[in-house]
Amino acid sequence: MNILPNYINGEWQTSTATEHLEVINPATTEVLAKVPLSPATEVDRAAESAAIAFISWRRTPATQRVQYLFLLKFLLEEHLEDIAQTITLECGKTLAESRGEMRRAIENVEVACSIPMMMQGTNSEDIAQGIDEMMIRQPLGVCAAICPFNFPGMIAFWFLPYAIACGNTYIVKPSEKVPLTMQKIFKLLEQTGLPKGVVNLVNGTKVTVDAILEHPQIKAISFVGSTPVAKYIYSWGAVNGKRIQAQGGAKNPIIVLPDADMVTTTRIAADSAFGCAGQRCLAASIAITVGEAKQEFTKAIAESAVNRVVGNGLDDNVEMGTVINSQSKARIENLIEKGVESGANLLVDGRNPQISGYGQGYFIRPTILQDVNPLSEVANTEIFGPVLSLMHVNNLDEAISLINKSQFGNMACLFTSSGAAARKFRYEAEAGNIGINIGVAAPMAFFPFSGWKQSFFGDLHGQANHAVEFFTQTKVVVERWKDEWSRKF
Ligand code: NAD
Repeated sequence: MNILPNYINGEWQTSTATEHLEVINPATTEVLAKVPLSPATEVDRAAESAAIAFISWRRTPATQRVQYLFLLKFLLEEHLEDIAQTITLECGKTLAESRGEMRRAIENVEVACSIPMMMQGTNSEDIAQGIDEMMIRQPLGVCAAICPFNFPGMIAFWFLPYAIACGNTYIVKPSEKVPLTMQKIFKLLEQTGLPKGVVNLVNGTKVTVDAILEHPQIKAISFVGSTPVAKYIYSWGAVNGKRIQAQGGAKNPIIVLPDADMVTTTRIAADSAFGCAGQRCLAASIAITVGEAKQEFTKAIAESAVNRVVGNGLDDNVEMGTVINSQSKARIENLIEKGVESGANLLVDGRNPQISGYGQGYFIRPTILQDVNPLSEVANTEIFGPVLSLMHVNNLDEAISLINKSQFGNMACLFTSSGAAARKFRYEAEAGNIGINIGVAAPMAFFPFSGWKQSFFGDLHGQANHAVEFFTQTKVVVERWKDEWSRKF
């Protein structure tokens, strides 16, 4: 069985790990490879090599640093199909979703290519007579990303291109559930000719993460994953003196007003709830209908759920793939059951589907719970599966008040044809990413990927100018040259 290597100091190295996990194709349950649970000594080696590389990498002009990213963009374009196949193979989403994920990864590389401009400082002359003051940006040193399973290719790209373009060196710890995609991407990073140690890949789980959190040479950590782990990373990382950004889980609501275009709204809402089998931090998890929107929306979304083509994401006509593993499938099914026990009506039951040719795969069809109690567990827990909970209120104020009670704040969307309602919603909804007639309000790479409340711990987000702020520290210089006014040149 293929045991995946780490990539440290410009070399593919077999891990000294004594424990391994199987990487499983969730559609077929075939074992694809084994991933090592790398010990702390390997994080040590990666951090050491990244720290040595930092000495000359930070002195490489930003204009030269981004040349590697230009090359990486073209390599990623060239290998996009191959990487997308790997994402689908290990993660279970459809090929179209995997391609879309890699497009967004490439977009981040493109935005990071503008870092020579984004890193510019500021300068004031004569703040007092003969004295100038300037603020410059300098890289932090060795930085690291700890990634979740649901976007095996994209998430590291919210951080890595910005980090290295700013002059930092980097370590990526992919999710142990989907480590194959990063193997492919690191082969491309290797082909760009980046100096040894600038980028490193270390596989593993908690032991590896703890070694990153505690390593004295690692200055900043970007985390994306579930809320309990995000909290842990944020607090323990801070205790260890790191700069941290930690994105957590979500429970995203969409609100449907009676004046919404119901055909488009239903199509978009279904894509949001069931795309990527609901395993998206921006997936719609709750749909709140207002007034007369209830009847038409409920009927249409149920039809859309029933008609969705579910299967192996590699097959052409498939619209929804698998969930990630058997534990996840059991957890989702259990939450559906709890929803029913708390009084919800199971309008569409997607449990235990028969998917021809894939009897063992981790499939759940789109599921809809109706009349969900806002106080119930299913209404407040992140399900991270293709399950949509329906609720109903009388007006927009009630809907906003309901969603603002949520502990999460990753995304909230409104469907309407009223500009005034949209403006009110944009203003009052307590979430970091807002969609108006949009189902997955994912920011383009030139905007920061926001997130509020228990969906984000930190200050600066991934992507764009926030990433540049996160991966640099400012230095303010106040300068006087005595000779300047007393000497003739
Ligand atoms: P997870 O929290 O289980 O794992 C994320 C990473 O943390 C993995 O690399 C894993 O190895 C590591 N990890 C897991 N448990 C740990 C522990 N106890 N100590 C230290 N490290 C640990 O998340 P997941 O299941 O891989 O991903 C799904 C979650 O990610 C969902 O909650 C989803 O909402 C969230 N997510 C959030 C965003 C966002 O932008 N807010 C984006 C994508 C995914």
